[in-house]
Amino acid sequence: MIQKLADNLYTFKINFPHSPLGWLNCYVIKGVKGGRDLLVDSGYNTPQCLADLKQGMEELDMRGDNTDVFFTHCHIDHIGNAGNLRDMGCRLLMGRVEYEFYSSSPWQSQMAHSVLDGVPQEVRDAMNRDRRIPENFHPQTMEDGDVLSYGGYTLRCIMTPGHSPGHMCLYDPGSKLMLTGDHVLFDISPNITHNEGRDMLGDYLNSLEKMLHFEVETALPGHRWTGGKKFRDRVLELLEHHEKRLNETEQVVTAGEHMCAYEAAAHMSWAIRAKSWEDFPEAQKWFATGETLAHLVYLTNHGRLVQYTDEKGLSEYRHI
Ligand SMILES: [Zn+2]
Repeated sequence: MIQKLADNLYTFKINFPHSPLGWLNCYVIKGVKGGRDLLVDSGYNTPQCLADLKQGMEELDMRGDNTDVFFTHCHIDHIGNAGNLRDMGCRLLMGRVEYEFYSSSPWQSQMAHSVLDGVPQEVRDAMNRDRRIPENFHPQTMEDGDVLSYGGYTLRCIMTPGHSPGHMCLYDPGSKLMLTGDHVLFDISPNITHNEGRDMLGDYLNSLEKMLHFEVETALPGHRWTGGKKFRDRVLELLEHHEKRLNETEQVVTAGEHMCAYEAAAHMSWAIRAKSWEDFPEAQKWFATGETLAHLVYLTNHGRLVQYTDEKGLSEYRHI
């Protein structure tokens, strides 16, 4: 069902019935005087998501050859239908840093490295499915500060690395509107995971602080709803959330003397309905380890923990 948010600005849901995310908010800016339409993000490449996407586009009277699609980042719940949209004749747009990162097959190296972080085979098996970006996905690439104009809105591309290495938000200064992608979500905290050779949490915290410089009256998140919460308040809440998680991670490692990321994750507290770590679904163990690792890397970079390789070749952390 289409919801009108402001002049020429609409949203509809792409439903994820089997995911705790619930749904993706697809945003549309309708062009004026024959101008092109803009669609932001596209859902998974599943029959249900594609049906929701097509229905939304149809109800908004959108034609592929008159539509530009901007992807906030390269995760499969956002770019899943890129190939289908390209086949409909749409022009695809994405941040250059994000596109280049995901074009270099980071998933394989992440999988290989997870062995050293203590992730057991059964957890890796649960995740070892094809996560490549769609074939022949050659979007027009955008840089930080580039401007996109549709339907009376002048959207600035804002680099917000953290949730992914080249994530971008779109900001319209005229209407004080921010399309946040997965950088700022409201009733769930965005997953921050580790990518080899990067301090993803450090990047994320910097990108959150960057958000405090923008005057935002309307925040449009990639998933779920804002629940009426003000954008600035939510940004501050997320900063505080990670500060607490950093302290907890440091305490867990200190209490255990030394730990690999997988062990540390098993000792952290998680907002999930499972009796114990053993009862976590394998995929959740994977995400929890990634999130813990992002915190461990940040703590190591800030001199609060030390990382070393043990005699078995595992990557371990201990207190200074
Ligand atoms: Zn997402």
